[in-house]
Amino acid sequence: MLDWKITGAGLPGRDGLWDVGIMGDRISTIAPHIETEAARELEASGRLLIPALVDAHFHLDKALIYDRAPAYEGTFAEAMRETLRLKQSFTIEDMQERGRRVLERAIAHGITAIRSHVEVDPTLGLRSLEAMLPLRQQYAWGITLQLAVFAQEGITNVEGEADLLRQAMHMGGDVIGSAPYVDPDPHRNVQIIFDIAQEFDCDVDFHLDFLDDDAPMLVPFVIEETQRRGWQGRVCLGHMTKLAALTPNELTDIGLALRDTNISILALPASDIYIMARKDTHNVRRGVAPIHRLAELGVNVGVAVNNTQNLFTPFGDGDVLKVALLLAEVLQLGTIEQHRLCLEMATTQAARAIGLVHNLQEGCPADLVLLGASSVSEAIALTPADRTVFKSGHLIAQTTLQRSFSPSAALAL
Ligand SMILES: [Zn+2]
Repeated sequence: MLDWKITGAGLPGRDGLWDVGIMGDRISTIAPHIETEAARELEASGRLLIPALVDAHFHLDKALIYDRAPAYEGTFAEAMRETLRLKQSFTIEDMQERGRRVLERAIAHGITAIRSHVEVDPTLGLRSLEAMLPLRQQYAWGITLQLAVFAQEGITNVEGEADLLRQAMHMGGDVIGSAPYVDPDPHRNVQIIFDIAQEFDCDVDFHLDFLDDDAPMLVPFVIEETQRRGWQGRVCLGHMTKLAALTPNELTDIGLALRDTNISILALPASDIYIMARKDTHNVRRGVAPIHRLAELGVNVGVAVNNTQNLFTPFGDGDVLKVALLLAEVLQLGTIEQHRLCLEMATTQAARAIGLVHNLQEGCPADLVLLGASSVSEAIALTPADRTVFKSGHLIAQTTLQRSFSPSAALAL
């Protein structure tokens, strides 16, 4: 007896319709027709069943604050300056209230895992982590919340920052990371993060090679450190917008080194398109990492939300499927194969980037979303609101779009 049977579903990359059986928290069977009885059944009626969505890079602590500090310039400098000013007033209750709204929305979208960076510095102290640790427990039924302890303001230029980061890891941070491009000594910044990662045996997550200035790329140094520390498969890099400025040969060299060190790359197009190339007066550059090219070289790549409704990204509802659509549009990914890649970048590959497994295979965790779409291309095109979400074998959320027409009223005009 199965716990669940989902019948007649389309699956990414497979022809025809399939039944999917769930036992406990795992996918037990995938077959054209499953005879075994199930305690509960869900008729998919040809809708697409996908591995649950993953947002591998988000900032819960500074989400949903645009109303408090709207943009006047729209520049990166303004975003950094005004967010730092606003941070001083963030209380634990305030961060939790906004965090809950984001997490509940994410669960409804079908995101069952999220990595949130939590800022730790003398301005916020450890408040952000204190706010998010209870949420990790409270929402475990619907979402796996990874907390990446994050030095947003630099390390070598901020008195006591390295100690604060270590305290945060002792308190229960899952991952360590920083934004080396804001540090006057970015190489030392990278080394300190790796030192802490080794001390706490945790994964590393950098905001890296962001912006469109002339500063040299740091990724070669991060690749070297990853090798030196034996941290292959444990490093994830977000933004990487400078990859967009490389020639094909330069990109290939870096791509092969990333593949060989098993470093994952995340494009954050909703933020990157908004912040990049502000000085271009015409024919404005897109400034999004060409991760489809890296995928061709065998690099694990993903797409993530990063921010919603703040100065870094005034837009968005936290739905990573919509950001995958944006990526497809901006990187001109129009073939069916490329649509499959976009979906994988928001599911399977995003999960892998943060050390999780989200695959539609027997034996894998039953984190699944049934979408109101009949194919992968339609899923990317429509990003449908209709979603039925399973987490660890439990049906945890259902959204149905209701729409009505009144043709008789129109005819009467
Ligand atoms: Zn970020």
